[in-house]
Amino acid sequence: MFKKILIANRGEIATRISRACSELGIKSVAIYAEPDRYALHVKKADEAYSLGPDPLLGYLNPHRVVNLAVEAGCDALHPGYGFLSENPKLAEICARRGITFIGPDAETIRIMGDKTLARQAMIDAGIPVIPGTQSSLGSVDEAIAVAGEIGYPVMLKASGGGGGRGIRRCNDEAELRNSYARVISEAEKAFGRSELFLEKYIDRPRHIEVQVLGDAFGNVIHLFERDCSIQRRHQKLIEIAPSPQLDESQRTYIGELAVRAARAVNYRNAGTVEFLLDPEGRFYFMEMNTRLQVEHTVTEQITGIDVVQEQTRIAAGLPLSVSQADVSHRGYAIQFRINAEDPQNNFLPSFGRITRYYSPGGPGVRTDAAIYTGYEIPPYYDSLCAKLTVWALDWDQAVRRARRALNDMGLYGVKSTIPYYLEILNHPDFVQHRLDTTFVERHPELTRYASRRRPEWAAIIAVAIATREGL
Ligand code: ADP
Ligand code: ADP
Ligand code: MG
Repeated sequence: MFKKILIANRGEIATRISRACSELGIKSVAIYAEPDRYALHVKKADEAYSLGPDPLLGYLNPHRVVNLAVEAGCDALHPGYGFLSENPKLAEICARRGITFIGPDAETIRIMGDKTLARQAMIDAGIPVIPGTQSSLGSVDEAIAVAGEIGYPVMLKASGGGGGRGIRRCNDEAELRNSYARVISEAEKAFGRSELFLEKYIDRPRHIEVQVLGDAFGNVIHLFERDCSIQRRHQKLIEIAPSPQLDESQRTYIGELAVRAARAVNYRNAGTVEFLLDPEGRFYFMEMNTRLQVEHTVTEQITGIDVVQEQTRIAAGLPLSVSQADVSHRGYAIQFRINAEDPQNNFLPSFGRITRYYSPGGPGVRTDAAIYTGYEIPPYYDSLCAKLTVWALDWDQAVRRARRALNDMGLYGVKSTIPYYLEILNHPDFVQHRLDTTFVERHPELTRYASRRRPEWAAIIAVAIATREGL
């Protein structure tokens, strides 16, 4: 097993990885840009090294990051999610410098990171994919010709896209003409690549994804599915495992399909195969993420398997600690992405000082947070500041527990998605788990809630104390 791992990331996921290292008896090394000097991930690791003053360049420079790993005497590197996690160069540089990359090999990352190559690999393996173009589009006229064949509406997508960006729905030829140049420039800016392709727009789909693990001995297993249908602008907000919308035969089918997909590319380490499920019950492959995902927590809560520790074991050349027959799931887990954003103001990021924070607790509650009282959320990074995951034996109790835990969570000084999630939790479609990816946009009224009760109580108590002290 490794002795020391460099965590090439920040925020809650860096802290999460430190925790896995600690349980495995491995030292963890944090890296930080100067605006992150007081970040929690720096405090939680055994050692920490500065990347310099720029908020982003250090985290995004694979040479810099691997140099630090070598200098700190690390034998492995975990990339987390976002940043360099899906950059094949990082995996390559690691290999060259004798640092084990905790993830798949560079070639797998390259193929699956290109949505058109991934689609082709899946078609070759007999996996159903969303109807669409098989190679990158050459021009807007080609796009229009293809869209005519597929039928509107269509999804225009960047081949190298991720994080919900570089995707646009086009309802007719005029919209496609209009969006084409815009998606190209968005893709160039965000991903440094401009290739686009088209897919049929699936109406009111459910986002169902399967966690897979593959080791160096050819063992590939799945850890059941997650339902990530609650999304805003193609970005996940709430994730559930297992999907309360599938029956056992669908569950078996999709798990086996994901394993087949992973085997087809000789997948090693942890990955996620994402599918859309249309209202007629058909599953279509959408993409594969070749890294740990934000929502891996719900899978851990229902299976009891520590995905980060499995990743580490696999990278160290050990076999999977469980076989498919050993993996079972129990109850339901729901994860809420606590973002520092104002839902009442178009989810505008809300950075600044956290004046007070306390995490919820009690039965079935897990928090993965990057914040503490007095912490100042820097404006340079994404707005995810904590993840709240609840687990319960059945769906109804999971929903009740989620309400209780969100009410239990104290986060003041910045706006957050907490009150918005409480509204979603009271919506009959959520309670009865009738969820598709259009839920958030179909319910704008859920962002128009009254202010939370507790800040008012806090204000009243503060006034009362001040009055007493004045006496
Ligand atoms: P998950 O599927 O794990 O929920 P997301 O798609 O939400 O992952 O992305 C996780 C993080 O990685 C987010 O912070 C997102 O902004 C970032 N991210 C994902 N893909 C890219 C990419 N291609 N380029 C830059 N950032 C990305
Ligand atoms: P990313 O790499 O940014 O995660 P995905 O290809 O996984 O991009 O798509 C993100 C989300 O966009 C999906 O979860 C789904 O909600 C929506 N989406 C993507 N493709 C389609 C499609 N063909 N039809 C309908 N919705 C889609
Ligand atoms: Mg995706």
